[in-house]
Amino acid sequence: MTEIIRSIAEIRAIRENLVKADKIVGLVPTMGYLHAGHQSLIETAKKQCDFVIVSDFLNPLQFGPSEDLSKYPRDLEKDLIAVDQMGADILFYPSATEIYGEDFLKGGKILTTVIPPENLTNKLCGLKRPGHFEGVCTVVAKLFNITQPHYAYFGQKDAQQLVIIKKMVKDLNRDVKVVGCPIVREKDGLAMSSRNIYLTQKERNAALILNQSLQNARDYYLQEASNKTVNSQDIIKIVEKSIKTQELAKIDYISLVDPFTLEDKTTLDIAHEYLLAIAVFIGEDVHKTRLIDNIILKH
Ligand code: AMP
Repeated sequence: MTEIIRSIAEIRAIRENLVKADKIVGLVPTMGYLHAGHQSLIETAKKQCDFVIVSDFLNPLQFGPSEDLSKYPRDLEKDLIAVDQMGADILFYPSATEIYGEDFLKGGKILTTVIPPENLTNKLCGLKRPGHFEGVCTVVAKLFNITQPHYAYFGQKDAQQLVIIKKMVKDLNRDVKVVGCPIVREKDGLAMSSRNIYLTQKERNAALILNQSLQNARDYYLQEASNKTVNSQDIIKIVEKSIKTQELAKIDYISLVDPFTLEDKTTLDIAHEYLLAIAVFIGEDVHKTRLIDNIILKH
């Protein structure tokens, strides 16, 4: 039975015993409302670790003032059943005060020490969500300090997050192995996300355009195999054109970048891999639900 732990002190005590017992500890950080995407991370962790901690923390620091923090879906009971079925050992479910102390946010000002990530943030989601990756890095660094895992599991769904966390771990000499896990999709191709719950049936159908546009781009990239290089603008135009066929979709960004440095690429060398990442608002109300997706282009 998965144990629910809410305090840092308790986690530390458990961690101490695990060290004594020479156990390999894995951490799966989440914001809860667990789905099959999270499940795949937990399953991978179970294979590699003796003891798996799933954190379920809706991190206020990574939401901008006009974002969806107040309506983000939460369901502790459902999450607890899910982690239990998945065989996780602990569900770490702290309050914001437990993580950040009292008064860490006052009048829109952040009053806690924040980890500023390296400049990998001034692109893709980082450009569109100022402060987001500062919030992510801060909470992940805190979760690493609290749980001291040997391994930590993150999804390729949040490709920029994965790159930034790997860089942070390297830059700060944190002794944890960051493991990236593939994107889990619904049968029809929609990437699983806790935010999919916001979608009406009509919007849910419209949201398929994210994956479809990426597939169109991939098909084009593969067709170009006989050329040594491909112009990235041609690929971006294919994605743009596909998304614009869907009237409920509004492009936030389309980026074609190096998957490690996140640098924009104008010419693609078919011998290399590239990350094609998109964010799209879906909804009859503009800006209703912002979804992200990505694909690695490779021959
Ligand atoms: P979240 O709860 O949305 O913050 O996600 C927690 C972790 O699960 C992150 O590392 C995400 O990248 C990962 N994740 C979310 N959705 C998926 C998905 N569809 N496939 C794989 N990993 C995912």
